[in-house]
Amino acid sequence: MPEEYDILIKNASIVDGTGAPAYRGALAVKGDRVAALGKVEGDLMAAAETIIDGEGLVASPGFIDVHNHGDLSILYYPEAESFVRQGITTFVGGQCGNSPGPFGEYIGLPWVLGDLYVDLAPTLFNREWLIPRETLNPRHRELFGWEIDWNTMGEFFERVEAKGLSPNFAPLVGQGDVRSLVMGPDFEREATPDEIDEMTGHVERAMEDGCIGISVGRDYDPGIYASFDEFLACAKVAAKSGASTRATASAPGTGSPGGPGSSLRSRQRGSWRPSTSAGRRGCLSRFPTSAPATTSGPSGATSWPRRR
Ligand SMILES: [Zn+2]
Repeated sequence: MPEEYDILIKNASIVDGTGAPAYRGALAVKGDRVAALGKVEGDLMAAAETIIDGEGLVASPGFIDVHNHGDLSILYYPEAESFVRQGITTFVGGQCGNSPGPFGEYIGLPWVLGDLYVDLAPTLFNREWLIPRETLNPRHRELFGWEIDWNTMGEFFERVEAKGLSPNFAPLVGQGDVRSLVMGPDFEREATPDEIDEMTGHVERAMEDGCIGISVGRDYDPGIYASFDEFLACAKVAAKSGASTRATASAPGTGSPGGPGSSLRSRQRGSWRPSTSAGRRGCLSRFPTSAPATTSGPSGATSWPRRR
């Protein structure tokens, strides 16, 4: 009597994720688990509700997208079909210093709302990093039927869980959003010690709420104005929870020569070192190459939020 499975993928090239060479075999699923792999008893004869012929195809574990901004769009597209169709089953969100919280009076640009931002604050190239929540929400409600009504990352996670989501989500808290919460639109400067102290409290809360690390973005508002000490203080608090630090150094063309964070040395100092100095593992998740800037405007501006 063949084993009963829900799904059987047969004749596939199996890449099992252990580093072993690919082999031809079958993969059986029961419920939400892989129930058998490779030498499935009864293999091609196994009974299953759905049988998929994997001839010419690869069956592998899901891919992890380690630099992703899907957390800023998961409430809008909870099924995340663009991930699933690429084989991505886990994403690390909150990169580049940008996460969907913590928010206060102002909302840091969720990139999925780019068109809405331009709608509210027309601009040719550089979108504003912050927009008042009370300006954003009425139009947001018109378009989507709901408002951005959370403050903390924990409250955001509750919204995500209520809607459900397809992929696994490994959240980072963005240092840029913590910075914006404390400094508001007055972010084009270094933070004071009191402000840094306040930021660390928000980072601590985000860690308690379930974030697995912190990210910094050195190439655009508002992180481009942050000092090394500010990053370090935030990274240290995150490190207490065993968190890691993700840093994003400048992308080609988005830093102004001579501006804060514009030299390679200052980028490295400002973005990479806080994690190692905080005694935790870090990950430099994007780094500039020597490629020339990709420009779209007379000032060399790109479509990214950037220092004015
Ligand atoms: Zn990014």
